[in-house]
Amino acid sequence: APLALKDPSLLKSQCYVNGEWIGKGVDPIINPATGQTIALVPRFGAKEAAEAVEHADRAFKLWSKKTAKERSNILRKWFDLMIANTDDLATIMTAEQGKPLAEAKGEIAYAASFVEFFSEEARRVNGEVIPTHRPDHRIIVQKQPIGVCAAITPWNFPAAMITRKCSPAIAVGCTTVVKPAPETPLTALALAELAHRAGLPAGVLNIITGDAAPIGKTWCEHPTVRFIGFTGSTPVGKLLMAQAASTVKRVGLELGGNAPFIVFDDADIDAAVEGAMASKYRNMGQTCVCANRLYVHETVHDEFVAKFTAKVRELKVGNGFDVGVTQGPLIKAAAVDKVVRHVEDALAKGAKVETGGKRSALGQTFYEPTVLSGVTKDMIVTQEETFGPVAPVYKFKTEDEVIHLANDQPFGLASYFYGRDIGRIFRVAEALEFGMVGINTGMVGVDVAPFGGVKESGLGREGSHHGVEEFLELKLMMLGGI
Ligand code: ADP
Repeated sequence: APLALKDPSLLKSQCYVNGEWIGKGVDPIINPATGQTIALVPRFGAKEAAEAVEHADRAFKLWSKKTAKERSNILRKWFDLMIANTDDLATIMTAEQGKPLAEAKGEIAYAASFVEFFSEEARRVNGEVIPTHRPDHRIIVQKQPIGVCAAITPWNFPAAMITRKCSPAIAVGCTTVVKPAPETPLTALALAELAHRAGLPAGVLNIITGDAAPIGKTWCEHPTVRFIGFTGSTPVGKLLMAQAASTVKRVGLELGGNAPFIVFDDADIDAAVEGAMASKYRNMGQTCVCANRLYVHETVHDEFVAKFTAKVRELKVGNGFDVGVTQGPLIKAAAVDKVVRHVEDALAKGAKVETGGKRSALGQTFYEPTVLSGVTKDMIVTQEETFGPVAPVYKFKTEDEVIHLANDQPFGLASYFYGRDIGRIFRVAEALEFGMVGINTGMVGVDVAPFGGVKESGLGREGSHHGVEEFLELKLMMLGGI
């Protein structure tokens, strides 16, 4: 059945390059809940990737010369159109990605918030005048857009990962070439249609679908591309960083996480359960900031596990379009296979199933929301990001012990803890080697705050006023002879 869209022209089967829709749809985009094909998209490669850069380069010459207000106004229109078309954008997203419709609408609001925020930020890119070192000189620093920016994005947030990268770039005068995830290009292409309607000039935003490796390599090695932004897995991030070294590009990387979620003995347990539900089961556990390891103090462990498990049992698994469903399918059958491997390994090494622990009868892309207790360090769930609806719970005794456990792995994106002691809040927050710490909250992502990781979770920050700096170069004007 065709998607129930108010505006069917938002569903695209072509790529958006230089303000035009080009290419022929060949690769099917599959609804993970039903296995049905929603649309076909083109399979572009290195040649089309290079052509998109040339268009973006030509557009850069004009776009970077616009006033901040002109750029701001167009972004603002794009934001307004995203909000006005929320229902259709969310429908496209749920169809290709699987997340429940209410969550998809939430992501559209989140994605649009970046466009709104950076439309405002466009006008606050101020330079500086530095007190001079000699009376006949003046030191002026101007901020200039870095140039053509490439973005490669994942399937878990099909809209927000694109706007979080492109709207700050476009706001400050850069132009962009984007390759969305092969699983979820339709949301991206619908966003491009709205950007077009908002009056974004040809070549400022270009979106192509196709073969990831040659497109990525072309952009990394192209001398005209000055920034490559990537959200995805750590191995691909390392590959892109290595390729980008060829042309000394700036890189922005948002890679894997392995978020600890710590519950101290003085925590508000009900609040901790609520935070764990939000952090763990959002997007069926398929976010890089999802709680991946739940460390609970031994004195509150049993209470937490009982209350948390009761809540997890209330989750409703099904097609994201069905009313009341809170857990959709995972992105593909292979994602479920990985969850199965992690759970089987944990059970073989002594973990206990509190609820779930198996595939869902709904189909090969579904897995039951799961809580495991008695989890230990040697299990795969501790070492790797599961990226599925599995919450492994560990018991701990001391603050030092849990800080060590939380940090003792190569990732450093999000972390969370619950507790009320003010001294401990500062000690723990400062000791956690993560780019983001949620304290008595399970949510850290918001347009006005810097999002990003340390260690092998990445480089750079997206969102907030820091988010524009990634797309700017400092130009020193040393003025002598005064
Ligand atoms: P996942 O395994 O969750 O899909 P990936 O890191 O493989 O995570 O995918 C994130 C994005 O990176 C997607 O858009 C994907 O197409 C892209 N990608 C995958 N491999 C490469 C590559 N070799 N070069 C450039 N992009 C890639």
